[in-house]
Amino acid sequence: MPDVDAHAFDPHVYKDADVVAGLQAKIASLADEIGRPVKLMHICGTHEHEMGRFALRDLIPDTIEVLAGPGCPVCVCDNEYVNLAIQLSLRPDTIVTSFGDMLAVPGSIPLEGERRGDVRMSLLDARAEGGDVRTVYSVFDAATLAQENPDKEVVFFSVGFETTVVAVAAMLKRGVPDNLSIIEANYYTPPATNLLPTLDGFDIEGFILPGHAVTITGLRVYEHLPEQGIACAAGGFEPADVLVSIVALLEQIRDGTPRIDNPYNRLVKYDGNEKAKRELDEVFELAPIRWRGIAEIPASGYKLRPAYRRYAATDRFAGHLETLDLAGAEHPKGCRCAEVTLGQIRPDECGVFGKLCTPDAPYGPCMVSHEGTCRAWYLFGMGKEKIHVEVA
Ligand code: SF4
Ligand code: SF4
Repeated sequence: MPDVDAHAFDPHVYKDADVVAGLQAKIASLADEIGRPVKLMHICGTHEHEMGRFALRDLIPDTIEVLAGPGCPVCVCDNEYVNLAIQLSLRPDTIVTSFGDMLAVPGSIPLEGERRGDVRMSLLDARAEGGDVRTVYSVFDAATLAQENPDKEVVFFSVGFETTVVAVAAMLKRGVPDNLSIIEANYYTPPATNLLPTLDGFDIEGFILPGHAVTITGLRVYEHLPEQGIACAAGGFEPADVLVSIVALLEQIRDGTPRIDNPYNRLVKYDGNEKAKRELDEVFELAPIRWRGIAEIPASGYKLRPAYRRYAATDRFAGHLETLDLAGAEHPKGCRCAEVTLGQIRPDECGVFGKLCTPDAPYGPCMVSHEGTCRAWYLFGMGKEKIHVEVA
């Protein structure tokens, strides 16, 4: 079995069975050395998805728990933006475009003839009521649609973290049709991640940092996490990437020396991608934004700078916004997405997981998105043994 050094990791062996077995053995021995339960957290929906897809939790001892944090932009997107997108889609001259996942997420506008619980209206419901809602794969598709429909207003519901927002910044910088605007549901990860250790009862000892996001921001922005006693490692997405990150965290915890390790150094640099950061900074500035189920977090949202505000849907439709109902419940009754998002519970601890709430009929946002924790748990069978459907 090869010996694997978390700090000199060969990037060409991500799925090699021997390497994975070596990492598994190393994690087991570190767990023994530590000799007590340890909770770790990743902050990326793709990590949750890959952990489920490759059953990685089955490879690590029960004493090492890996929980999911606020790593899915769809799950943390505030009702305010969903409501805005719905209202705009119902205007006769407007096309609302969005990533497919976002279409099924409920906002807080009551749905006439409610189906279950207190389900609220989503963009899919708006489409059923005649709203023009289109699925796109990127802001480029939305710009193309705007070019093809000069007599319409085309709105891109820009939901995402750094990786999505940088594409929007690049597009706006290069120039887009005047009839395109964006809904600024753009989230910057570090302030939310840095907030987590300050929450009451927070008992996570190490973070697997989100691999794509840190490719852009770099690791420096997480420097004060080790000062708060949190071990950190940048995490890639292949099985060996995830396991080697766990090794790095456990080594730090065993030695009592929290720091930032970079086992994903084939892509991640300590200072990130300077060109991407410059483009982001030219088009967007940081502002407070509400994270659904968490809080309004200062400087954690990307808002268009004054020179680009003509592309902000909130400004363009300002007159219309006065009639919008932007207040509302965070999550449907009985849904525990807020606790799932903060790593306080596992999805199968929510009473409706797999019963009232499934990927085909999601009740809360964490069951909607491909990056959603509950959806990954359901699709890959995690926690299924706990689902008992009562038949009357
Ligand atoms: S944007 Fe990338 S890094 Fe961030 S949560 Fe999504 S998949 Fe993970
Ligand atoms: S199972 Fe459904 S309702 Fe419960 S926390 Fe997950 S998404 Fe929300």
